[in-house]
Amino acid sequence: MSIGILQSGEADKPALPSSITTRTGTRHAKTVPTLCEMCVNKCAAIARVEEGLVTKLDPNPLFPKSRNMLCPRGNAGIQALYDPDRIKQPLIRIGERGDGKFKAVSWEEAYEAILNGTDRFKGLAQILDEEKDNRSTIGYCAGEGMAEHTFRTFLADKLGSSNFVNHASVCLQTTVSGHALTLGGYGTADLANAEYVIMAGANRAEAIITPDTMDLFKRTKGRGATLICVDPRFTNTAAKADRWVPVRAGTDLAFVLALTYVAMEEERYSKAFVREHAHGFEEYKEHILHNRYTPEWAEKITGIPADTIRTISREFMRHAPKAIYYQGRRSTFSIQDFQLRRAQALFSAMGGGVDVKGGIIFGKKLPLGKHEINAPMYANAGERIDKGVAAIIGGSGSWIGWRNRILEGKTPYPVRAMFTYKQNPMLTIPNTAKTRQLFEKMDLVVTIDTMPGDTVIMSDVVLPESTYLEREDPVRSFGGAEPAIALRQKVVEPLYETRPVAEILKGLAQTLTLPLWKITQKYDEDVQEEIEGKKPEEIEAYYRENGFDLTDMFRHSQEEINREMVISKWGEAAWKTLREKGVFYPEMATGFRQLGANVFQYYPEEKKYYSVRKGSFATPSKKIEFILPNMAKKGLDAMPAWREEMHVKTPKGKFKFLTGRHAQFTQNGTANNAVLLDLIHENHLWINKRKAKEMGIAFGDMVEVRSRVGAVTIKAYPTEEIAPDTLFFVHGFGAQSDALSLAYHNGAADNVIIEDVIEPYFGAAAMHTTIVEIRRV
Ligand code: SF4
Repeated sequence: MSIGILQSGEADKPALPSSITTRTGTRHAKTVPTLCEMCVNKCAAIARVEEGLVTKLDPNPLFPKSRNMLCPRGNAGIQALYDPDRIKQPLIRIGERGDGKFKAVSWEEAYEAILNGTDRFKGLAQILDEEKDNRSTIGYCAGEGMAEHTFRTFLADKLGSSNFVNHASVCLQTTVSGHALTLGGYGTADLANAEYVIMAGANRAEAIITPDTMDLFKRTKGRGATLICVDPRFTNTAAKADRWVPVRAGTDLAFVLALTYVAMEEERYSKAFVREHAHGFEEYKEHILHNRYTPEWAEKITGIPADTIRTISREFMRHAPKAIYYQGRRSTFSIQDFQLRRAQALFSAMGGGVDVKGGIIFGKKLPLGKHEINAPMYANAGERIDKGVAAIIGGSGSWIGWRNRILEGKTPYPVRAMFTYKQNPMLTIPNTAKTRQLFEKMDLVVTIDTMPGDTVIMSDVVLPESTYLEREDPVRSFGGAEPAIALRQKVVEPLYETRPVAEILKGLAQTLTLPLWKITQKYDEDVQEEIEGKKPEEIEAYYRENGFDLTDMFRHSQEEINREMVISKWGEAAWKTLREKGVFYPEMATGFRQLGANVFQYYPEEKKYYSVRKGSFATPSKKIEFILPNMAKKGLDAMPAWREEMHVKTPKGKFKFLTGRHAQFTQNGTANNAVLLDLIHENHLWINKRKAKEMGIAFGDMVEVRSRVGAVTIKAYPTEEIAPDTLFFVHGFGAQSDALSLAYHNGAADNVIIEDVIEPYFGAAAMHTTIVEIRRV
């Protein structure tokens, strides 16, 4: 594949000097507080700007969430801004889809192509005309981010499509839902105060390195807290833990059920908490004991010795309520993942460690004003197409269920256009071959991105977004025991022809609004009835008053909206503080103080929001839900139960494939970052050392990893630190776009081989169920 993005002469002019020299102490230096976007955590940063260049990013000590921390990826944010491979101006496809041939155009030409198409692809006007104004023919997806809301609101509320999918179903869906339906919220693990933490499959030392992870590690190994790491790999989290418990991949649920069995059989749980706050506990107890989820039973499934399970259960309950079964992050592991998360939450609750200091806490969120949108009603817009893929399909959908329905032709109407923002489905969604087919099937693909990644290459129109250091995003309130409001504000003016997403959509709205309104008038019988017999000026008034004017969402700039949202709740002084310091909370002026070299107080201890529920949890029964009768009505389990038929076993001679994160790399978002690639050059295949020896595989040998859906080649890394029947490599490598100078063909992409297996509760992708075989090549 040859990929050549043609930039116009204008855009090729360097917006920067060819080399960036960091000069300190210049008279023109200024500092701007902002929020990092090198991963999802949003740590507070202070950017130093000298003569218009960002020369340094430092942590902002004022933000309780990040407490003066900026990790290596955060420091490498400057490279995201000054990466020479950035998309510099709008692009229109001029070759075949996927061959990477584009021409650089003006913003007006790009908007016009989205509306009317070119000789290569269709535009929205034709598609919506052919689909009789069914707005849901436009699919759209987004990753997590502070401006995701703006993108989603425009596509859903203004353009009127219900077909949205985001990262949730390839990320936290089952753990968030499992905890929300059980405890009334996902909550936060109070790692700073917990005395006993079980972390299973959550690799905090290499995935989310927030200060609370550091707080915990400072107290492990006999210094006040015990950390149990349950993982088929010896991760860096395992290295910091008091005990590493290797587990067979996909069997964690059996482990938690056995922990629960021990606590119930030995009556070690908090009877007072259960009496006061549990709904359905007696049924759950009967279920666990009756099914004999004993440690001996679990040992056969998990490989964890029964004595170890007994010990951990007893130790956990001894430290409860300051004991947490960590909720988990990242992906859904197995088909039983929802019930795994439920079982974890219930085990924590049995110790009383919910809504208390040292347990899972819900905290408080500081209110912000609302930015109301005038959303039109489109009579012909269809319902989302993935209903029924799983028991519960929420607003963010089931990515692979949604995609597969389109490919299988099982939709009530065709989805013909696709808008992508801050997500790179070609690398992030399991079974890349199918994702490629999805894009090939579309009549129009529009991608908003900063970098020319693999999804950009599959697009018809590419709209270049400004990086986080060049834009202001919607102001955000961050909840927790120490809540605060923080602002990502523009540090430097956007480079090249890039724009923030709100401005991109504003321009698009101006081009689309009247032509699409004509199509609505042609097909929408409700609208026709309303405007029948009306004069042109009355029709225009109807169009404006009922939200069909797509531009009204952008009447105010992001800065104006943020200002209003803060001032309406907290007043002018708060807004001034937020602008100047990047952070605001009412107690900041009196509560914040530096206690040591890198130790800060944000809220006095007595003012922290550890316990907020006051005995009333945000669930239907207002209690902890040990039983969910609604799930039984859908033919699923009301209580966590081990389903052998759902467990994917590893056949002899084959391996189960796992994927994960690295501390200095944020998935494919940092794949081309020169600074971070210095720390991790490429990904390697973890394979058990003895197994590798048996197969004649040595360090650095090229190995083909093949599943039912694809194959990749990757260098081998034989190690003792992984189970013999398990393989692993880090997500985010293996880009196929040669417009990325450093990421192109660097390492292997996991989703090429990960099968598209859907768990039945929320339609999330079960990402640790793929069986692979390997051979040296
Ligand atoms: S954890 Fe690192 S990359 Fe993520 S927001 Fe914080 S500093 Fe940025």
